[in-house]
Amino acid sequence: MEGLNTVGLVEVLTLDGLDDVVRVLRDQGRKVIGPIVRDGVITHDEFDSVSELPHGWTEDQDGGRYRLVPTGTDEVFGFSSPSTSWKRYLYPERTLLIRARRDNGTVEVVQPQPDAPAVAFFGIRSCDLVALGILDRVFLDREATDPTYAARRSDVFIVAAACNRPGKTCFCASMDTGPTPRSGFDLSVRELHGDGRHEFLVEAGSERGTELLATIASRRATTADLDTAQALHGRAAASMGRRMDPQDPPLAALDPDHPRWDDVANRCLACGNCTMVCPTCFCNATEDSTNLTGTEAERWRVWDSCFSIDFSHLHGGSVRSTVKSRYRQWLLHKLVTWHDQFDVSGCVGCGRCITWCPVGIDLTAEITALATPQQSAGRKGVPS
Ligand code: SF4
Ligand code: SF4
Repeated sequence: MEGLNTVGLVEVLTLDGLDDVVRVLRDQGRKVIGPIVRDGVITHDEFDSVSELPHGWTEDQDGGRYRLVPTGTDEVFGFSSPSTSWKRYLYPERTLLIRARRDNGTVEVVQPQPDAPAVAFFGIRSCDLVALGILDRVFLDREATDPTYAARRSDVFIVAAACNRPGKTCFCASMDTGPTPRSGFDLSVRELHGDGRHEFLVEAGSERGTELLATIASRRATTADLDTAQALHGRAAASMGRRMDPQDPPLAALDPDHPRWDDVANRCLACGNCTMVCPTCFCNATEDSTNLTGTEAERWRVWDSCFSIDFSHLHGGSVRSTVKSRYRQWLLHKLVTWHDQFDVSGCVGCGRCITWCPVGIDLTAEITALATPQQSAGRKGVPS
């Protein structure tokens, strides 16, 4: 059935049953992380009970705009993509790589072991789940495995949640990454809400998911439940605010002299917000520091952005000194060269870069504009 992966155990839970899932995960010693309302946004953090989830809240998201809005219902998952992605739990903003200490002529260098708390990701959206799969390709590459990511990722219990209310900036349906999770989860939940009903269709996607689900009071899903879920999937897929073709952008976009690059560069502030919120962006920089006496030194890995001028600093200066060149690098890496590197698009259609761009730059609009070959002022048609 399209949109539903019904190979595993499929049960229907009440709200109390969903709370029991959280309780069992906590009893396993896991920190359960999920969507919560804080500081006027839906973000992610540890929680103890489903009563802490964003009951009755959705968001109004658009280019450069985010507002929490009450749904007037008690829906638990009535929102789309939270303000932050999940990557920081696996790939932290700052990671200590080494610490060195000099004492009486000897130097001791310590490489900290990665900390890997037992966690469950609760309520992860389909687009963000696909994004995790993309980060897996980057950080779990056999030739260059990242120890921090590998340690943190190895035992994450994943409870995915299908979207019933996509936002205006969402386009996962056109990218074929949502709105219903297809794989990569232990459990997947779809909220069945309305006409006095409030239940959760839960599908197991792994052995441990099946084992956990079997311990929760539930009833077996009926054909009518599956039909309702299918209808919700179809409605959500049809109500995405934006769309984009997941295949390579049109060749016209490769023209470095296309006038749209100047146009977007005039609007772009090179702030890097889009890369910070993106669930697949992974660029980082290395920072070295010492204490004032020069006896201790640390090396940290920190998130960086291709929008920062120092990011492409080689001897003599930055090779991407203009905002135009940096925006072009970001967009074409996401949508073109990511395919060459990782066999997938670097974009999963979560829409965060549109919402959190302070000037509302929208990659779906940019790529549409770039699709039209235009007369440019400089040299023509030389891909770079
Ligand atoms: S490029 Fe934008 S829409 Fe695509 S995954 Fe990143 S933040 Fe989401
Ligand atoms: S596209 Fe928007 S969010 Fe990204 S660097 Fe430019 S101004 Fe900032």
